[in-house]
Amino acid sequence: MAKPSKKGPTKTVDIFCAGCSTLLFKYRKGGKGALIKSFKDRISQDYTLEPCICPKCHKAFARETLIRGLPAYKFIGGKVWFK
Ligand SMILES: [Zn+2]
Repeated sequence: MAKPSKKGPTKTVDIFCAGCSTLLFKYRKGGKGALIKSFKDRISQDYTLEPCICPKCHKAFARETLIRGLPAYKFIGGKVWFK
């Protein structure tokens, strides 16, 4: 495995589909609290085959958006969980 980047948050969380518990992303999450959005450049592993679509149950779990000019995914409420 690659060594973790020294830039940005180093704590990685696993983000799962709420419907079928498939792993969707490994994400370097900053701060604490609810997971509402994710910046694409902080996703360290992307297990999806199509953007915002669960590869197993084929349900949309997020929408692509821009946050302060940066490409990001905004999660749809209740569609994902993380640990
Ligand atoms: Zn799913």
